[in-house]
Formats: sequence, structure tokens, C-alpha cells
Amino acid sequence: MAIARSTPKRADEGRRNPLLASWRTPFKAPPFKAIAPGDYKPAFDIALQTHKEEIAEIAGRAAKPTFANTIVALEKSGALLSKVADVFFNLASADTNAALQAVERRMAPRLARHQSAILLNRKLFLRIADLYERRAGLGLDAEAMRVLECTYKNFVRAGARLDAKARKRIAEIHTELATLGTAFTQNVLADEQAWHMILEGERDLAGLPPSLRASAAQAALELGQPGKHAITLARSSVEPFLQFSARRDLREDAWKAWSKRGENGGKTDNRAIIVRMIGLRAELARLLGFETFAAYALEDTMAKTPAAVRALLDKVWPAALRRARAERDALEARARADGENFKIAAWDWRYYAEKERKARYDLDEAEVRGYLVLEKVLDAAFDTAGRLFGLVFEERGDVPVYHPDVRAWEVRTKAGEPVGLFYGDYYARPSKRSGAWMSSYRTQQKLTGNVRPIVVNVMSVARGAPDQPTLLSFDDARTLFHELGHGLHGLLSDVTYPSLAMTNVLRDFVELPSQLYEHWLSRPEVLKRFARHAETGKPIPQRLLDRLEAARTFNQGFQTVEYTASTLLDLELHSLVDTKGLDIDAFESEILARIGMPAEIIPRHRIPHFQHIIGGYAASYYCYLWSEVMDADAFAAFVETGNVFDRKTATRLKKHIYAAGNREDALDAYVAFRGRAPEIDGLLRKRGLV
Ligand SMILES: [Zn+2]
Repeated sequence: MAIARSTPKRADEGRRNPLLASWRTPFKAPPFKAIAPGDYKPAFDIALQTHKEEIAEIAGRAAKPTFANTIVALEKSGALLSKVADVFFNLASADTNAALQAVERRMAPRLARHQSAILLNRKLFLRIADLYERRAGLGLDAEAMRVLECTYKNFVRAGARLDAKARKRIAEIHTELATLGTAFTQNVLADEQAWHMILEGERDLAGLPPSLRASAAQAALELGQPGKHAITLARSSVEPFLQFSARRDLREDAWKAWSKRGENGGKTDNRAIIVRMIGLRAELARLLGFETFAAYALEDTMAKTPAAVRALLDKVWPAALRRARAERDALEARARADGENFKIAAWDWRYYAEKERKARYDLDEAEVRGYLVLEKVLDAAFDTAGRLFGLVFEERGDVPVYHPDVRAWEVRTKAGEPVGLFYGDYYARPSKRSGAWMSSYRTQQKLTGNVRPIVVNVMSVARGAPDQPTLLSFDDARTLFHELGHGLHGLLSDVTYPSLAMTNVLRDFVELPSQLYEHWLSRPEVLKRFARHAETGKPIPQRLLDRLEAARTFNQGFQTVEYTASTLLDLELHSLVDTKGLDIDAFESEILARIGMPAEIIPRHRIPHFQHIIGGYAASYYCYLWSEVMDADAFAAFVETGNVFDRKTATRLKKHIYAAGNREDALDAYVAFRGRAPEIDGLLRKRGLV
């Protein structure tokens, strides 16, 4: 396909700019060290211009539309832009700085405008629509048919059929949303970076186990306060502090800082931003013919309607609430037994829950942590991928990385066939946004040669002291498995067309591969081999495994309530038709009061720092629970065979779920794997809610 001839300036930049050059590194991985912050803007300029010309060329063709000259050409277009954007946005999340943040603020609206210009391009849409009308007679195979149907649907959902005035307004809305979303995310990071608590002396450290003291000492060292201890707003720092600190006053301080991110007034306050975003989304939905943004967003999911999501939440919420109230009563009794006479506050829950767990199950989080060495948990996650899918991970020291903490593994099949490249970036640092995620530097596809994926897992684990191994909580270990589950979804992807690849599946399906993978961590078959004591190397004793199993559903009322409350806030917020005079504080309080939220629990994400609903999970935070219905049901398929590594079941799982991308309808894919639709009982049992 012809691309307009490069101008001399562009040719020079193309030779000079490491983002635009062809990468001669192992696995053609990004040459991180060669890239300077100043390279992004000119690289984006050229990549955007190139993509624009590619699109103009496809849309302006005189020849009658064919699958090859329109859909295939569209699938191939924008490769340079993806290459630049994948590097940029990965680093903007995992290792950012003031220079990258400035580029991000500048590029986010431009990229949104660019994306809208493609999706709302009339001439291009008419070619796609023509093909769509004639699709039955085009002689397409199943995957080609799927990519045509998905492309058509994407354009329609974006507003391609609307009149010029509406299309123009939609483009404006997306541009403004991109600017606001970037500000929102940067504000949360700024609030997280702005706060830490220095602990001095034994009085401040009361209750903290050795592993938390070690990671707090390391955090203080990184903050330039050697010899002291620091608690930060990384989840891996603040959560264990709330769990163990015997100092109620310090717990309250930490909890308040944590819960008020994005809500501190001044330049980083997100409340006005979110009100504006919700208003714009409501307007967008109206323009597209939907009553609410939730109705619009959910049309393209397995759930399909807000009513279907509410039906699921209605089954879970009352049971979770009952359970959480009983848990609270038990915690209050525990506090009274300790001689305290206050009501449990939100900053007390984790602390007394830890005591309760110890008393009831003789299970000590710090004791379990001693057996969960990061290195060994990684081995366990890789070994599971070997037993299920025949993959081998081999660490490579010669692949470029973007930070000294990042490690790279070559992934092959046991027969030696290349699969892809896997980056792991596990430690918390101030340049990283909080949370854990999987992303990719290159997407698998076979349209332009056999392109192998490069995927990355990012977490924010508190690092152990120098020359000490890093120890994980059971939750951290579960998150590591979760993200590798997403990673395998990317690595095993086996599709022809880029837009069907990897994790480009429905939002409420995408957490299935990740949540399902968590199940293997909890199995004795895995823990007995890989949970070995950091100092003695001895495997985790059976008595501890038994207690872990007995305590499996402990505190699940709390966890289900904090998660589901955020889900309900998300759904209600995106069901608003009019946002005039919307006061986020009042709105949040009112919804929480209406659903009977216990005063001792706050939502897992309060609205001013709810980053999921800024990115791709707007009106879709429920998707974890939706996917959980499937993961609980899917893991049962293994348990039913009597072997959690059953070969036949694993083969079906790989074929229909992990390798399938968006090749077929999500429910059809699930049914092809399981033999029937998912049933909710597994979820309720897993959480101990029945
Ligand atoms: Zn996930």
C-alpha cells in the first residue's frame, strides 16, 4: 500500500528518532535507553501524520470497497503510531516524570481528536457500511467476518451514522474527556507522591512485623531519610500499616490521607473534573441515542444492560451486607476483649480483622508472608503456565529495560517455538501509579508477518531491605497470578487481525483469564512446592495450609462490600441524565446511605480517586464480579476432573479463552470451553456468601 512520500524533514527525523527507527534489539524490544523525553513529541507528530495519510488513502480510493482494500488496509494502518504510543503510555504509567507528564497532557487531547477523526470519517464509514451490507456474499472466513462486523459496530457506536453537527460535537467531547482524564490521573499520583509518614522510634513502630519494618526502612531510604521508617500511599505500604499498626492515631492519619486522594482542595482536587466528565458522558450518550452513559457503555458487553448488572449486584449485595455486619460485630467484641470501649472506625477494621483472624484461625499474616518470597511466587506462576499451557519462561539479561527493577523473560513452548517476550516490573516507586496492571508493548497478529507479543506486568510491591528477599502478602501473591493471567491472555493470543488480538475482548470478559489464574495459587499442589520459608527454605507446613483454607472466606463480607459499593457508585454516576449542580460529596454520601453502607467501611475506590472509571472501566467496574461468576464456574471444570492441571480441560481453555482474543462472541467462547453457560453458585460459595 502506498504511503505519501516523506518530506525531507520527516525523513531526517525518522533516521534520528529512536522511536521511529526499526529496532535492532533482541525481540525488537523498544531501545529504552536510547529514547529521550524530547523524542516523543516529534515521533508522535510524524506517526500521527503518517496514520492520517494512510486513512485518507483508504477513504479516498476510487476502487469499489473490498475486504482487502478497506478492512485489511485499516487493520494495517497506524502501526507506527501504535509503536510510539505503546512505549509512551506504558512509561507514563509505570515510570513517569515531569517531562513525560507534560507530553501526556499535550498528546491526550490530540490523540483523542485523531481517533474521533477516523471513527467519524464519513467516506471511510460508507466503505465499511457497504462491505457490511454485502458481507454474506464476500466469501469471508469466520475471523474475517468477525473483524468486519466488529469494525462496523465500532464505527456505529462511535457515531459514524450521525449528522455532521453531532459528529463534530462528539469529537469535541472526546477531546475534552481526554484532557480531563489525564488531569484526573496525574492529580491522584500527585496526591500519592505528596504524602508520607515518617515513623521514629519504637513507639511509632508498635505492632509492625519485621517484613513491614524492613520495607518501611527501604521506603525511608528511598525518600532520603536513611535509618528511619516511612509509610507511603502505595497500597502495599498503607494497607499493611492499617492492618498491623497498634497506634490508632497514626492509623487514622494514614487512612485519612489514603481515602482523601483527589479530594484535598487546590490544584489536585478531582471533584470538579469528575462532574464535568460525567456531564460530557451523559451528553455523548444522548447524542448516540441512549438514555444514559451506562446504557451506552453496557450495550457492548456480555451484560448488555444496566438492569442485568443490577440483577447480579442485587444477588450479591444483601448477602455481603449481612456478612459484613456480622464481621463488624465480631471485631467490636474483639476490641472490647482488648479493653477498648470505642466503636470500630474505618481505620480500625483491618487492624482488628487481623487480630480476629489470628484468634479464630491461628493464622498470622506475617507468618504466611514468611513463606511467600517474590522470586518463588514468580516461579510458581511460571510453572503453572508450563503445566497448563506448555510454556517455558527463560530470563534474559540482554533485553533492554526501562528501569533497573524491570526484568525480561523470553517465552517459548516446551517444543522450543517462540511465543513472545514478558516484562515484569514488581516494585513500588514514586514514578509509578498505584495498583497493578498488565499492558503490552506489541500486540500479537499475523497480518504483517508472524508478529509476537511483548507484554508487561506492573505491580507496586514494597521492596525488602537490601540483601533481604522481598516477601509478599497472600493478596500480593494473588495479584501476581492475576496479572500473569492477563499476561498469558496476551502471550497466547493467536489471531490474524490486530484488532481482534489479545485482550481486545469485552470488558466484562477480560477479567476471566486473570481471575481464573488466581485459583491455582491457592492449591496445595502449588503452595507445597513454591511457598518456602525465606530463611529456612522449608516448605509451608500442612497446618498453615489447613488454616489458610479454613480462613479462605474470612473477611469476605468486608471485601465484597467495599468492592460492590464502588461498583454501585460507578453505575449510579453513569446513570445520571443531568449533572447540573451535581455535588460529588453529597452524591456519594446519598448513594452510600441509600444502599445501607456500614459506617465502618468505605468504598474500595471513592469517586475522587476512582481511576478505573476514568479509563476503560467507566460504568464497567462491575466487570470483575461478572468475570468472577465465570472464573469460579470455570475453575470448577478442572476440579470436577480430579486434577487441577487436567490436560484436556487446559487444552480447551487455551483454545477458546486464552488464545481466542475476540475471534468469537464471549458467551459462545465460554460455552465452547465449559459446555454450558456460567452459573452464579460458584461465586457465592467462593466468597462464603451462601
Ligand atoms: Zn485484572
